[in-house]
Amino acid sequence: MIISGKDIAAQLRSDMQQQVDAMREMYGRAPSLVVIQVGDDPASTIYVRNKMRAAEFCHIQSRQILLPSSITESDLCKQIEELNRDNNVDGILVQLPLPEHIDEEHILRAIRAEKDVDGFHPDNAAYLWLHQPLVKKHVASIYNPVPDYGCTIPCTPKGILSLLASTGVELDGKRAVMVGRSDIVGKPMAKLLMDRQCTVTLAHSHTSDLPAVCREADILIVAVGKPKLISADCIKPGAIVIDVGINRLPDGTLSGDVDFEACKDIAAHITPVPGGVGPMTVTMLMQNTIDCFRRRMAK
Ligand code: NAD
Repeated sequence: MIISGKDIAAQLRSDMQQQVDAMREMYGRAPSLVVIQVGDDPASTIYVRNKMRAAEFCHIQSRQILLPSSITESDLCKQIEELNRDNNVDGILVQLPLPEHIDEEHILRAIRAEKDVDGFHPDNAAYLWLHQPLVKKHVASIYNPVPDYGCTIPCTPKGILSLLASTGVELDGKRAVMVGRSDIVGKPMAKLLMDRQCTVTLAHSHTSDLPAVCREADILIVAVGKPKLISADCIKPGAIVIDVGINRLPDGTLSGDVDFEACKDIAAHITPVPGGVGPMTVTMLMQNTIDCFRRRMAK
């Protein structure tokens, strides 16, 4: 069965619209998100535009700040500090990648952790790794895919847990293989799956016999960036396959990391590209903005 991230994201965004309207009623203003773009990289421009549109749909107050690629690291930090201090700003996102003369890690640390809607700040990452919330008490659903860690969870892994919840498959005790060990997808995903009582293997570019490792997976998640790396011989019959990869092919079309046509009849559930993980990532950014607002208002 195909898991439509596009449909689930649409359902979640309608629900968020209502959440935001109720919050505006209660607190006198809606949650607010500021997205900073440095330079005019065309791919970044499309990503930022999608985020702005999603925010508008969800009735989240949003603002884009476009800065020249020549900006210095210290001027960018000053801009972030101003937003950190602004009480009416709940979420700050700096669109990556940044120009080479700017240290991304430094910039991500400059955003106050409580306003870090991407969940990339080291405090948020540490919180995720050091906490194990009472998962037994948490009933996962597409609307509420992760228990409360008290910090921001990166958008893509959070969206994937929502997609997994949509299948109705119990995760407890399952073998999960995460291919790719990035800080934004692979590592946090592995931790979240461990907390859901999965037995997790984190595979990467040095993993030997990747197909054999993947074939053990009841849940296979792939975030590599290599078109059709995962072929039919990597799939255990009946597995759930989540394809995070976004690759532009020479003919201009998009492909995931999984050979969708070859794998779709072997897997029990599989996400397409486009229309799978991508829309969920943007949707979880909206949820993270709402959650940051809620936590700030509760203080
Ligand atoms: P990355 O690009 O930082 O790193 C790639 C990872 O793949 C590394 O951990 C590396 O060890 C692993 N890898 C490389 N070659 C491999 C191989 N042959 N076999 C096994 N593992 C291999 O990772 P990322 O930032 O998570 O991005 C991965 C892909 O996911 C990219 O295509 C990116 O565009 C996409 N992505 C999509 C979304 C979304 O919302 N859909 C979000 C984030 C990333």
